[in-house]
Amino acid sequence: MSNPHPSERYSFIEDKNPREIVLLRGSGCKWRRCRFCNYHLDFSLDQAANDALNLDVLSHIQGKTGVLEVINSGSFSDLSETTLAAIIDTMKAHNIHRLHVECHWIDRAAIAPFRARLEKEGITLKVKAGIETFDGRFRETVFDKGIPEDTTPEEMAQYFNECCLLFGVEGETLEQMQSDIQIGLTYFDRICINIMIDNGTPVKRSESVVNLFISDILPNIKNNTRIDILLNNTDFGVG
Ligand code: SF4
Repeated sequence: MSNPHPSERYSFIEDKNPREIVLLRGSGCKWRRCRFCNYHLDFSLDQAANDALNLDVLSHIQGKTGVLEVINSGSFSDLSETTLAAIIDTMKAHNIHRLHVECHWIDRAAIAPFRARLEKEGITLKVKAGIETFDGRFRETVFDKGIPEDTTPEEMAQYFNECCLLFGVEGETLEQMQSDIQIGLTYFDRICINIMIDNGTPVKRSESVVNLFISDILPNIKNNTRIDILLNNTDFGVG
């Protein structure tokens, strides 16, 4: 994903937590080290251009379900103040009362002030973090995710309401994936499972791990409304 067209930046997710979703653009992820990621390429240092694009994308929002998800490479705090204000104005105009955003661990201090700001507008904030796996050693040696290895799920859940997990990677086991799902559902409102798609980065998809997920895990979780499952990373309809 490097620079999707504006028409590829709005979608509506009909099942499981129905919501409109937009892919906005900011100054870019400040971490940029996750070894599986090409998402951080979706950025521009030209904030005026970002704002023009984002306002165009936000104009597609209709308030279909009262819930909006905003994603961008990196953290919501990498979006400009102009864009953040436009998100709030758009939500108020369409009676949208809940906002889902993403945030990296290194930007967690930005969450509380933004949550307080939204509360004044009658909007509930739900923040999702890319945790990828709760096996801290695997996460930091294989993914270089940038969350200290010994960070506990309790500590993560003090900041984040939801988390992403990355499955289907060389070296993962069935037990690790099952454990990650169990921990995720214990500490977070919702989890989002992404299945690795080869994208030219050093982290490689493992067909045998993907097949294990599909045969031994997927049938048990596919109808769980607290679990989003992206077998392809464009399954949400954006990007
Ligand atoms: S934090 Fe997100 S956008 Fe940044 S490098 Fe990692 S996966 Fe990519």
